[in-house]
Amino acid sequence: MSVSENEGLHSAEHIFARSLQNLGEEIHVRKADTFSEEKLGKIFIKENLDAEKVFVAEADTNKVINSNLKVNETMFDDLNKAIKRFPKLRFNEERLEKEKTVRVISIGDFDFSACIHKHVKTTKEILAFSICNISHLRGETEIRFLSGLDAILFAIDKKNDILRLSLQNGFDPERLSDEYSRLKGALKEEKDNDIFLLESLLNASNMPLDMGNMRISDFYRVFNKFIKESPGKDIAVVSSSQIFVLAGEKSGLDIKRLSEEMKRIGFVGEARQRTINGKINDKEKALKLLRLYIRREAKNAQ
Ligand SMILES: [Zn+2]
Repeated sequence: MSVSENEGLHSAEHIFARSLQNLGEEIHVRKADTFSEEKLGKIFIKENLDAEKVFVAEADTNKVINSNLKVNETMFDDLNKAIKRFPKLRFNEERLEKEKTVRVISIGDFDFSACIHKHVKTTKEILAFSICNISHLRGETEIRFLSGLDAILFAIDKKNDILRLSLQNGFDPERLSDEYSRLKGALKEEKDNDIFLLESLLNASNMPLDMGNMRISDFYRVFNKFIKESPGKDIAVVSSSQIFVLAGEKSGLDIKRLSEEMKRIGFVGEARQRTINGKINDKEKALKLLRLYIRREAKNAQ
């Protein structure tokens, strides 16, 4: 019988499940699927597993594969006899009929499992094992994996993604995490600088503000904070596609009239008691209208 990928994938799942259990984890496999056409294995575990532990079990699985253990099957008249012979037997209680014959697959002294499927004869036939996805949903952990050449090619492909990125961006491929943290920090610093600049402009009451290509919604928190602290003031900002006006509680800005004037130049959106928020298609027109309107209101207030 020739070894198909699925036998390797399926046998790898036995080793992986045992490797997880050996880490001292209380693990209950709800479902495992190693028979998909795309040769992708899936295992659903009823517990919320930490990814680091999964990685350790992945490495252990590859060590077992490489130690070339023999895979044997033994038949038992019933489950009790099988457990007596293999006290560490893994079996699915919900699926096994206790009175019927049981087929036990043993992988060296490493794993014993009641199973009806086809397996490799020795673990080296599996070649390799690689996890390609871990997800957590409703307290469960779903792990997707590959075996054989697929596992090796997957790992090489991901490794080359990192090499490609490092060459294009000039960082040490072995320090990907450091580079990621550095970029995250730089982005945060940039955002903090934007916020600082924006707060200065708001304080200078230099309305309306042209925000260029920035996303206005990224700064709602800054606007709300400012207007809470300065209830007599107004905010009017425009980006390439959005307009946002927020009047302070004690400001006299006539939002309703302003929104009607905006509509005449193509504003589409909402006008509430103290806010105008929506789309515009001509930024320059919107800025001009706001400038005139705010100046007029200021004159009226005097
Ligand atoms: Zn099996």
